[in-house]
Amino acid sequence: MSSEEIDLHASLKKYFGFSQFKGLQEDVIKSIVEGKHTFVIMPTGGGKSLCYQLPALIQEGTAIVVSPLIALMKNQVDALRGISKEHGIAHVLNSSLTKGEVKQVKEDISSGITKLLYVAPESLTKEEHVEFLRSQKISFVAIDEAHCISEWGHDFRPEYRNLRQIIKRIGDDIPIIAVTATATPKVQEDIMKNLGMTSEANSFKASFNRPNLYYEIRPKTKNVDADIIRFVKQNQGKSGIIYCLSRKRVEELAQVLQVNGVSAVPYHAGLDAKTRVKHQDMFLMEDVDVVVATIAFGMGIDKPDVRFVIHHDIPKSIESYYQETGRAGRDGGEGHCLAYYSYKDIEKLEKFMSGKPVAEQEIGHALLQEVVAYAETSMSRRKFILHYFGEEFDNETGEGGDLDDNVRNPKKKHEAQEDVVK
Ligand code: ADP
Ligand code: MG
Repeated sequence: MSSEEIDLHASLKKYFGFSQFKGLQEDVIKSIVEGKHTFVIMPTGGGKSLCYQLPALIQEGTAIVVSPLIALMKNQVDALRGISKEHGIAHVLNSSLTKGEVKQVKEDISSGITKLLYVAPESLTKEEHVEFLRSQKISFVAIDEAHCISEWGHDFRPEYRNLRQIIKRIGDDIPIIAVTATATPKVQEDIMKNLGMTSEANSFKASFNRPNLYYEIRPKTKNVDADIIRFVKQNQGKSGIIYCLSRKRVEELAQVLQVNGVSAVPYHAGLDAKTRVKHQDMFLMEDVDVVVATIAFGMGIDKPDVRFVIHHDIPKSIESYYQETGRAGRDGGEGHCLAYYSYKDIEKLEKFMSGKPVAEQEIGHALLQEVVAYAETSMSRRKFILHYFGEEFDNETGEGGDLDDNVRNPKKKHEAQEDVVK
């Protein structure tokens, strides 16, 4: 082990209290410390923040972290302040700050106290900020949720596309670290191209395989509610999430479950904040087994022992499906991912898009076609998902290769077809 490695481990322990790096973290950190442009793809929960936080803490100057959500930035800044006596070790720079607060932030950066400066892309665009940052020692710029750069990602944000120009103005040779959990080759290509990352950039990609998850698709018939009730009852006492497309369906299904003796609560953005928090806590504290929810539920929810995720309605992309099913089995234990599929639902999703700009519709359509292919495939579902993310997987030898309905009960093609066309 070189002295450098020992130092990184010591810093990991010192700042974060961990004794081991997770996955590719150490290699990523070395790449950043060497000043290379670095591209990191790791699934959610993989530990991406530490990849840029640790090098920021041990390097001279301030690292700028671009992040799309104020809540995400705040969480990280609070956590960083918790590990240091220095309040100014991390700051958020956004439009809600008073003049006096902005002055303080800038003073802390100038005096070298601030190791991480979190900004939303809009704030980074501000001329006065660019001018100021130009005159400072910037260790690197980290772009979190970098898929926001790509229209092919699930969360495109136009202001992300100008980041490269702005970073150039702040400093010509500032290393850029792009970090995302979106692994499709298209998005990947888009990000690297937009940021001007060439072959000399270091790319790191962790495997997206979740070997403990079982994937299953069932045809969606009018008996879907009864089928869900049966499934939940067979899994009594286990925690599960059931996703529905609409708030109305969430309410209805939650009620149906309650009437049938299942402890379930609804969760969607139409409920007032107090109720949402209450229901979320009930689920986390295991006062209820099941939460029936729209996709509003889940961001930042870290319940390790969710044993099943059911999709009452098929999601609009494989990425969403992967993210949502990914909330099962975080602890490495069993996680059953069951989705109901009917082509009618695909048509419904197509219809929702019809008001959108043509380019967006085309992308939405292409993403949906992948969902159709996934739902109707008779091959290993894990292989399909991983292939979608640009990863080769051999389900004969790969971990978890036998954990899906197609591999367990191989069907002849025409049977699979008959199942879904009703
Ligand atoms: P991501 O952004 O990739 O979704 P996070 O950066 O939010 O993931 O990290 C997920 C969790 O993993 C956090 O709770 C974090 O503290 C934890 N974590 C990160 N690195 C390590 C490590 N080396 N050892 C143990 N836990 C870690
Ligand atoms: Mg993250």
